[in-house]
Amino acid sequence: MPLPIVVQGDIMQTARMCRVCGVQIPPERIEIIPNTQTCTKHSNATAVVGFMDYSHKTAPQLVMVSTNDTEGMRRATNVFKRKR
Ligand SMILES: [Zn+2]
Repeated sequence: MPLPIVVQGDIMQTARMCRVCGVQIPPERIEIIPNTQTCTKHSNATAVVGFMDYSHKTAPQLVMVSTNDTEGMRRATNVFKRKR
């Protein structure tokens, strides 16, 4: 049996269900993460925060920190405050 099609604007997508809870994954999520298998609630992805580290004056660096990384988040917050 063919999967139902969700039409949103002029974007046509195949409706997909979360493999954990079976709830339909919102089309917006599939549009951003086409290979996702889960709804937002069951995603095992963790949020990340990105910041520019200018401590090396000649080579600023984009640093990505997981929000689970307490020490990294403390450092990101300090860098952010220093730039204000
Ligand atoms: Zn789910």
